[in-house]
Amino acid sequence: MLSIKNLRASVEGKEILKGINLEIKAGEVHAIMGPNGSGKSTLANILAGKSDYEVLGGEVTFLGQDLLELSPEIRSRSGLFLSFQYPVEIPGVPMINFLKASVNEHRKFKGLEPLTAGEFLKLMRAKKDMLHLDTELTNRSVNEGFSGGEKKKNEIFQMAMLEPKLAILDETDSGLDIDALRVVAEGVNALKTPENATIVVTHYQRLLDYIVPDFVHVLYKGRIVKSGGKELAFELEEKGYDWIKNGNE
Ligand code: ADP
Ligand code: MG
Ligand code: MG
Repeated sequence: MLSIKNLRASVEGKEILKGINLEIKAGEVHAIMGPNGSGKSTLANILAGKSDYEVLGGEVTFLGQDLLELSPEIRSRSGLFLSFQYPVEIPGVPMINFLKASVNEHRKFKGLEPLTAGEFLKLMRAKKDMLHLDTELTNRSVNEGFSGGEKKKNEIFQMAMLEPKLAILDETDSGLDIDALRVVAEGVNALKTPENATIVVTHYQRLLDYIVPDFVHVLYKGRIVKSGGKELAFELEEKGYDWIKNGNE
């Protein structure tokens, strides 16, 4: 599904990613962990196509396409979803209109007819049920005045509506109460199918109590310095990041 080979990238002239290699297959959940400032968000943003980053070298293939050649819109329509560490507010645009436009754009890209208002509401209800969301958030402007937890729930709801092939969740757990954490985890777990994959970026082990990753990677100073199974997350919780840092200075 996703193949990253020796990806190097800089922000404002500073090299942040120094040769990332990662292979993700359909059906897998990968956790990317690591201390603050390691480049986790940089990697997520580059995959989503955010502008401020310069790719210095390497290759990224997503579903057989050269991902780095695609615009952010085409990446999204091709099935890539990024949940931001800090979701943006869009005052004046009701969530429901935003979602309907997104869902129908994605359908159009696949050659499908747009959903009618009735079909859209039905889909929305089904996804709310799936996530056990009783939220009224869909009637409000996108993220406007939402609490941190509400923004994250909303991101997961968008993800459920768009049914991406590859979802990248960047620190979706930071600052979440247990209820929001549950929604995030249930969303990821409910979305998991043999055809989809998820990358969970997290600083803490806590989210991984609810989402069981197939693989855990530690990113440190722009490189993946250790990979393993879910036991690596427990090891990190127990020992912290110092033992990783020591061997990789
Ligand atoms: P993480 O998500 O692992 O905490 P980031 O990818 O956010 O790490 O940051 C990696 C490094 O890149 C940090 O040193 C950070 O200060 C720097 N960085 C990230 N984005 C920018 C930016 N827009 N401008 C300048 N420096 C940045
Ligand atoms: Mg950070
Ligand atoms: Mg980050």
